[in-house]
Amino acid sequence: MIEYTRVIKHETDRVPGFGAEVMRAPGCEKLASCIQCGTCSGVCPVSIYMDFTPRQIMALTRADFKDDVLRSRTIWLCVSCYACTTECPRKIRITDIIYELKQRAIQSGYYPEHFAVPVLAREFTDMARANGRITESLLVMRMYLKTNWLAALGMWRLGLKLMSTGRFSYTPEKIEGRAELEKMFAAIDTPIPDYSPSGAPGEETKGTQP
Ligand code: SF4
Ligand code: SF4
Repeated sequence: MIEYTRVIKHETDRVPGFGAEVMRAPGCEKLASCIQCGTCSGVCPVSIYMDFTPRQIMALTRADFKDDVLRSRTIWLCVSCYACTTECPRKIRITDIIYELKQRAIQSGYYPEHFAVPVLAREFTDMARANGRITESLLVMRMYLKTNWLAALGMWRLGLKLMSTGRFSYTPEKIEGRAELEKMFAAIDTPIPDYSPSGAPGEETKGTQP
């Protein structure tokens, strides 16, 4: 016998404006045209491990269920294979929308505690922002310290091997001109104005569609 779990969503769970805000980000505009066909979930190679399928994430985002979306494991399990984006009949850039959601989850501190993927993403960004380069050994060390440092003990052999073959840098690297880099990041951090022709979120914007 198949058991079904019924989840009831309430109006009070919504954060009005969240979906519209996501749809204003470059690449996410077409989310409004999703027909909930489920093709994205069908082709996704990791959807069986997700708490919400890609189709559900699209629906929840559009319907303003910010907490469900940003706290979900789905956005961190996505491996960016772009299969969903390629197959979507409405040409919705699902993978890019998931990237946008990941970014928002990190900014809001919403990701699951000790979950390695978001910690790695945040540490990567912090290091790139501070130095303009990544020092792989330090990056991995920071990730393990903030998630599961015991797991690092089982990886020391691999780490040494990667260092000996030059695949893993261990001396901190920095670029020159980090002030310019900071200016670029500051520009990225600047909130995106509503640039759609009529001001209506989700409306197609010339030059940004695939
Ligand atoms: S494939 Fe595209 S239209 Fe279909 S549910 Fe997924 S996002 Fe929506
Ligand atoms: S890009 Fe992400 S959501 Fe889309 S099919 Fe691949 S793993 Fe699934």
